[in-house]
Amino acid sequence: MATEPLPVTNALSIPVNPEPWEVPQVAAAYAQLEKQVKASRPNDDLSALRRTFEKAAYWHRNRKRATGDPYILHPIAVSGILADEQMDMTCLQSGLLHDVVEDEDVHIDEIRRTFGDDVARVVDGVTKLGKLKLANREERQAESLRKMLLAMTTDIRVIIVKLADRMHNLQTLGALSRERQERISTETLDIYVPIAHRLGMGKIRGQLEDIAFQYQDPEASQELMKEMESRRQANQEYLNMVKHAVEVKLARDHIPARVEGRLKRPFSIYQKMKRQRIGMDQVYDLLALRIITDSVKNCYAALGVIHNEWHPIMGRIKDFIAIPRPNLYQSLHTSVIGPGGHSFEVQIRTEEMHHIAEEGIAAHWKYKEGKKGPADDDQRIAWLRHLVEWQKEMNEPQEFMSTLRVELYAEEVYCFTPKGRVIVLPRDASPLDFAYAIHSDVGNTCVGAKVNGRIVPLKYQLRNGDVVEILTQQGHLPSKDWLALVKTSRARNKIRHFINASERAKAIEIGEKFLEKEARRLGVSLSRIAKDRYEQVASEYGHSKMEDVYASLGYGRFSARHILQKLAPESVPEAEPAKPPAPAPVFSATGSQVFPPGQDLVVKVKGIDDVLVYRAKCCNPIRGEAIVGYVTRGKGIAVHSQNCKNVQSLLYEPERRIDVEWARAVSETFTVKMMVYSEDRPGMLHEITSIFYNENTNIRSVEARMDDKRSDDSAIVDLTCEVKDKRQMEKIISALRRIPGVRDVERVQ
Ligand code: MN
Repeated sequence: MATEPLPVTNALSIPVNPEPWEVPQVAAAYAQLEKQVKASRPNDDLSALRRTFEKAAYWHRNRKRATGDPYILHPIAVSGILADEQMDMTCLQSGLLHDVVEDEDVHIDEIRRTFGDDVARVVDGVTKLGKLKLANREERQAESLRKMLLAMTTDIRVIIVKLADRMHNLQTLGALSRERQERISTETLDIYVPIAHRLGMGKIRGQLEDIAFQYQDPEASQELMKEMESRRQANQEYLNMVKHAVEVKLARDHIPARVEGRLKRPFSIYQKMKRQRIGMDQVYDLLALRIITDSVKNCYAALGVIHNEWHPIMGRIKDFIAIPRPNLYQSLHTSVIGPGGHSFEVQIRTEEMHHIAEEGIAAHWKYKEGKKGPADDDQRIAWLRHLVEWQKEMNEPQEFMSTLRVELYAEEVYCFTPKGRVIVLPRDASPLDFAYAIHSDVGNTCVGAKVNGRIVPLKYQLRNGDVVEILTQQGHLPSKDWLALVKTSRARNKIRHFINASERAKAIEIGEKFLEKEARRLGVSLSRIAKDRYEQVASEYGHSKMEDVYASLGYGRFSARHILQKLAPESVPEAEPAKPPAPAPVFSATGSQVFPPGQDLVVKVKGIDDVLVYRAKCCNPIRGEAIVGYVTRGKGIAVHSQNCKNVQSLLYEPERRIDVEWARAVSETFTVKMMVYSEDRPGMLHEITSIFYNENTNIRSVEARMDDKRSDDSAIVDLTCEVKDKRQMEKIISALRRIPGVRDVERVQ
């Protein structure tokens, strides 16, 4: 126990301003909190609470609430809500400190030093959630936002404290403007209520809903309350009557139980009336009895007693004991026609089920007499499994167990458009991924990005909650360098597609021009050649369209003369004279060393295989030098050093310039694509990649994704790798298949 601070006086015995925690209103509120904690958690160390309170009061000393009260009353109240829920000391301390980082600029490191890692983690989490502006988002985005909230949560207690914070904010919403009332109540219903529901925290969910409803739709709420009030007396009497009848019958059958009568909560009545377009009279579960007994067996026995007495309504019997709800809720539900023809609902459950229904995941931080048994841990794991299932993301529950931390969405980041749309991207995604996720036009014309109002480089790695604005410019085109910056296959495919298409278009254009020039030189009129002749020639080259022939010509695979000879054999002599091809301007004479495709290919044309490439003699570029390619006429592509004088002087024909790069390895390898179907478990990707490492082969790209077609613990890993030969490939595939959890490996052709 901390000693009470002594009143401080100065030398003249005039009382100085009281310390922030001694202000009478504040001290009284804290005393009340202490009393609550003593009652709900008798074994807790109150000195830690006291220390936290004084520090928090000091930090908030200059701040007032909208009501004019000292600000610290709010954190005390939040901590009080948590104490009522019997939450642990970390929660209570975090409740007291939850606003100091955000509002008072206290550094999180100071919290860590003073109060330890757990408290710091929870306070940090609550602070981050607080920074998100969640209101006025589109309805369909709500699910993503809820996921994001959980993704940013490394400790479930963050959510519990946040819910308590929200609860107190709602309780004191009266002091705020109408606009803020609307915003906060909408946000509560859209985001926090579903989270409380998912986490099984039925009690807090109901309370949040009822208060938010009052602000959300004051008229409907008041009308409903009035109507409920007018029936209260009659309803209460009716409930007491059936409650007594049930108690008598249960006792007669020796079923130990307590029976509670309750009225359906206002918000859920309202929802039901609205959804089913019915009046209050027709809500048959307006009145409900809850029977809490000692065992599952007695739950069913009690159900028998009820059905024996009153007629059940068809289709209203639900066995959530046999099939629990995803949030682990368990109960038997039935609705019966009671005395006087009035219907009411009966929920039957054990004491334990009751706790789970009311507290949900929070039950695990509650104070309990005695030690936690193994059943408790099992229960917690079950919780997580369900939680995780809901998230459709797999993580080891044990991992959470050991640290009480959960990083469910570590693989995803959630970002916003300036209008508030949520864009979900893989971790480390860049603004380009974001741009392509919006629209391929936005991606293609992207020239930059602003994140949270600041210009960032395109290689910036997006983080949860970033607001991303893409800067575009009409006519801007994607660059090959972008391929290294993007993480999503969508962006990658769009960029590749664009580059291939534009290069092909360039090649077609060049090819056509070459053919025209050659035709002019030889005096052949291309327009006089019949259409079907073109088609015939195309198929002779193994292409379906003439366009493909132009492309090949543009890439330098064939010579224009060769094609012309096929198109108009009567006008073009069969064979060229035995001299070098007509000199293509400037460098046909400079090139000599030709590398046929697939053979000692040291230079490659970006995005294109199977092209004749040779190093220009004039500059003879060597590996590592910056190089540029020029399309020659019929002799393939000449590769020059970028500062070669010939290249400089060739700028007058820029359309013949083509991007080239040094081929990866001197020894030849083959690219193979594979798909690995596996169980989604931590470490899987590492095990897969280490197979390649052991084989001393390169992985060009690897991408893991969820298998949508299968159960949600299935993943697919797309791999592009390089192998020396078939034998090596087969060796790798069989090694992959031996990894536990790998279900199949497929080579993609
Ligand atoms: Mn707060």
